[in-house]
Amino acid sequence: MASAEQGVPHDVPHGGVGLWGASPPAQAGIMIRYFGAHTIDTGGIHMAVRRAAGAGAKALQIFTAIPKYYGDKSSIRPERVARFQSALAAAGIAPAQVIVHAAYVLNTATSDEIKWGRAAAGLAKELERSTALGVGGVCFHPGAATDGDRASAIGRVALAITQALSAVKGRTRILVENTAGAGLTIGKSPDEVGAILAAVPAALRPRTGYGLDTCHLFAAGHDITVSPAALGGILDAFEAAAGEPPAFLHLNDSEGALGSNRDRHVLIGDGRIGREPFRWLLHDRRSGGIPLILETPQERPDVGEDDATPDPWDVRMMGLLAELGAE
Ligand SMILES: [Zn+2]
Ligand SMILES: [Zn+2]
Repeated sequence: MASAEQGVPHDVPHGGVGLWGASPPAQAGIMIRYFGAHTIDTGGIHMAVRRAAGAGAKALQIFTAIPKYYGDKSSIRPERVARFQSALAAAGIAPAQVIVHAAYVLNTATSDEIKWGRAAAGLAKELERSTALGVGGVCFHPGAATDGDRASAIGRVALAITQALSAVKGRTRILVENTAGAGLTIGKSPDEVGAILAAVPAALRPRTGYGLDTCHLFAAGHDITVSPAALGGILDAFEAAAGEPPAFLHLNDSEGALGSNRDRHVLIGDGRIGREPFRWLLHDRRSGGIPLILETPQERPDVGEDDATPDPWDVRMMGLLAELGAE
């Protein structure tokens, strides 16, 4: 189907991955920025699309299963795929600019064999559902090194990625999300993200990548609030370690302090990061061509199933991003 064929970042003109990889900073004026949000899917994932579209989104993030369960048995019905894809087409949102967020419970880093097996199966199912939808990528949190051995935990995360990519053919990518670094969670530093990706076999490596969450960066101790140069240096470190720029950005302010390891998102401007660093980020070349997703609180989390009106706080945040991204 046509929309699925377009659903990969490297196939579209402004599709992010590697496009500006090794080149000097693009002029901000020619960057295309795909702003969007993780909207509520009450009534179905096609309703999440309609709510995002109502807020002016050109990117989107969704769950395809209940995020607190493994979802390792749940497939996606063709009718659901069709409804979702027609909603995207009606909204003018390219499938390549859609990210699926995997379940939070998938701990592909764990040393517990049973739990790892379920997490790896869950990740493969996430990729199967995401591939059926034709989206650009599925992002996940790599999990925690439960036995304290971070090096072998990194190997287990890479193995889960490798198994999922081997089991599910297609071009939807698996994207590691950087973490806030609480407890034994891995993926908080450029080295850890880079090491996970480096341990995936070269033949599958193009189908993986990573994305960065601003709240997680800050909570993990990366101070993006000092200056544009300091923020750029942090992105440089991830880019150097991974060998490529991020495939998406999550734009969230942080309730917790620098290095607090607290993963608590708040509206941009209401947290410890503040507005200015988001302006700097939106003028960095790496924000061009990729999904820029708000995961900020919703004013109406209890929106009705048939209600496609956008969340007022998403509308406000989208307006703010447009303002911060303007020249
Ligand atoms: Zn996440
Ligand atoms: Zn995030």
